[in-house]
Amino acid sequence: RMDQAHGQDLMASDERYVWHSMKPYSPQGTMVVKEAKGAWVTDVDGKRYLDGMSGLWCVNVGYGRTELAEAAYEQLKELAYFPLTQSHVSAIKLAKKLNEWLKDEYVIFFSNSGSEANETAFKIARQYHLQCGEHSRYKIVSRYRSYHGNTMGSLAATGQAQRKYKYEPLAPGFVHVPPPDTYRMEEPASTDPMKLRSVKDVDQAMTWELSETIAAMIMEPIITGGGILTPPDGYMKAVSEVCKKHGALLIVDEVICGFGRTGKPFGFMNYDVKPDIITMAKGITSAYLPLSATAVKKEIYEKFKGSDEYDYFRHVNTFGGSPASCALALKNLEIMENEKLIERSAEKGKVLLNELKSRLSNHPFVGDVRGKGLLVGIELVSDRGTKEPISLEKINSVIASCKQKGLIIGKNGATVAGYNNVLTLAPPLSIEDEDLQFIIKTISDSILALK
Ligand code: PMP
Repeated sequence: RMDQAHGQDLMASDERYVWHSMKPYSPQGTMVVKEAKGAWVTDVDGKRYLDGMSGLWCVNVGYGRTELAEAAYEQLKELAYFPLTQSHVSAIKLAKKLNEWLKDEYVIFFSNSGSEANETAFKIARQYHLQCGEHSRYKIVSRYRSYHGNTMGSLAATGQAQRKYKYEPLAPGFVHVPPPDTYRMEEPASTDPMKLRSVKDVDQAMTWELSETIAAMIMEPIITGGGILTPPDGYMKAVSEVCKKHGALLIVDEVICGFGRTGKPFGFMNYDVKPDIITMAKGITSAYLPLSATAVKKEIYEKFKGSDEYDYFRHVNTFGGSPASCALALKNLEIMENEKLIERSAEKGKVLLNELKSRLSNHPFVGDVRGKGLLVGIELVSDRGTKEPISLEKINSVIASCKQKGLIIGKNGATVAGYNNVLTLAPPLSIEDEDLQFIIKTISDSILALK
């Protein structure tokens, strides 16, 4: 064990000097992490925890991969930095590799964070319409409960009022539509996805807002931060058709769903759609270094190739696509390919989902267990009839009990109504069977102990 006094010192310094996103509110207390390997992190007191939600930061290949550190180190020695107003070898190789993963032709703009990748996508979408001579299209449609980032545009696209109201005015021109929610919202019984309520809502919003003002719609394949909302059959494809009908581009936010999380290379690949723009971050480097990307369909990029200097995309990003991040990302994708982590995510995800369902489905506080690949949500309610969300105190007690047993899990689901009742599981895709069983047992025991 590490020196306890040392740990306490660090915690006191954290308290005094570091303002992180859970401060000063931190119901579980601040955890100061020192090191990590595989799926396990160790805090400054030497206590080990299985990181059952590393997926929300997308450490997809697991912690402690020295090959990744080495790839960055070698690149830093050879070329520490050069801006992507010009180009460098690792960025080119990575963009080419991403095309293989995307299975289609996309041109890649690099940034540093998911928020920036989305901002970039919004600007490209708006300018694209100008390049096509359509000067009235600027609105971006997104869904309630979604999270798209912390900047003034990506936060405006975010559909969670409770994150936004203190910071207004945000960027104007953002419109929200209701998301699908297979647990809480009834859809008419029909086999035609165009008749889904949640699809009609998109169509109506685009009609009433006037099609000719809409630039794009942004959506995650599965809303993650808003409660692991897996869509009904045919939903995403139908939404992509609605976008086409109204002349809006479809931007797919793969910041969490990308890079194998849902059992496919990208989340949209579960749903038979071809996005115009795809944004990605986190899992691109397994979170080892900051990097994000906005992948743009070749045909869209072509529209920016005018003869006039004003035709090009006037957007620079100093650190975006830095050599070390790109070199590390390439190595990360190579590991995912060699270890077949996407297939593993699909396979282990089924085990996780099925075992949780069989242990928990009849429990009076468990409303729904859902997910895809290694991304699973457990929606807790106080009454299965009324679906009243469970109290904050009870859900926090489950999280605390898991933590006490050595398992870190997440909680989300934030809605306009203020629900925050979905436990979230997203372990590394490289998770060992034994560790997966530990997650299943620990979370089930903690829920079954609820009174
Ligand atoms: N989109 C989604 C779906 C996200 O989950 C997040 C981050 N949680 C973002 C965008 C923003 O990414 P970042 O924090 O890297 O800016």
